[in-house]
Amino acid sequence: MKKVSIVVPCYNEEESLPIFYETIVKIAKELKDKVVFEFLFIDDGSKDKTLSVLKDLVKQDKRVRYISFSRNFGKEAAMLAGLEHAKGDYVTIMDADLQDPPSLLAEMIELLESGEYDCVATKSTNRKGYSFLRKTFTKWFYRIISKLSNIELVPGARDFRLMTRQMVDAIISMKEYNRYSKGLFSFVGFKTKWIDFQIEERVAGTTKWNFWKLFSYAVEGIVAFSTTPLVFAALVGLIFCLISFILIIVIIAKTIIWGDPVGGWPSMACIMFFVGGIQLFCTGIIGEYLAKTYLETKKRPVYIIRETENKKEDHE
Ligand code: UDP
Ligand code: MG
Repeated sequence: MKKVSIVVPCYNEEESLPIFYETIVKIAKELKDKVVFEFLFIDDGSKDKTLSVLKDLVKQDKRVRYISFSRNFGKEAAMLAGLEHAKGDYVTIMDADLQDPPSLLAEMIELLESGEYDCVATKSTNRKGYSFLRKTFTKWFYRIISKLSNIELVPGARDFRLMTRQMVDAIISMKEYNRYSKGLFSFVGFKTKWIDFQIEERVAGTTKWNFWKLFSYAVEGIVAFSTTPLVFAALVGLIFCLISFILIIVIIAKTIIWGDPVGGWPSMACIMFFVGGIQLFCTGIIGEYLAKTYLETKKRPVYIIRETENKKEDHE
């Protein structure tokens, strides 16, 4: 029988976890003739009782495993740890808040079993439970990144997807430090089947993302999968050179023909500010790439594990 690993990144999810576990166990029971499950929870440095909830689950259920980080490393790090440590033939990533409906699993497993696809991915057709600001922002992010990069990002795509071992191995073979999984999933290719669903609000707890966290995640995504902003910087520079060249000719001509006296200080000041601003903006773009390169060259680990479900056994 095939083994399915369910990877669940958890950050302060003490309230959602029991509900999530209960739901997923029911699904596992329904599918028990087809596949065996492994539940791999990643405690991403939670500050609440998430870890002790997980320890209790391990005691009552042999299928439960956990990895606990030394601090909060972010969902990307948690997903990588999960994919690296999952032992299943099929691996899926699910949010602990049940926003990714486990009821889809049966269909997803069946689709992979048919052998036609390497991955079954999900996307939500609505964005229930998310603020207006976030919806607008997300829409623009998808527009911008689809123009700037070659990879194909599907609007509304969730991280909830069931992948074959082959695809998982391809993803964990990419050891980059600045991880943007939605891009990585698309980058590795493979045959992907998309299914739609209507998203519900999270069952308990609150979202772990605020505007700035999301904004920097979006910048991360763009920088990781596109170098077009650099071309943009060069292009703006070129355009400004051309404009100034034309202006120089105009001014020389004016002086020769009409003998224009010195004037136009306010306009000069405006131009200086404007050009100065553009220069700083472009330097900023370059700096962003340089900073990412700097972090990549350090080769720091993406996450650090404090303990797992086996750790106690090691000490005994
Ligand atoms: N998460 C995590 N580390 C973080 C932030 C979030 O592991 O630093 C987990 C969180 O526990 C949840 C999933 O990532 O299982 C998605 O988070 P959330 O539901 O807050 O995101 P949203 O649904 O608002 O996009
Ligand atoms: Mg959520």
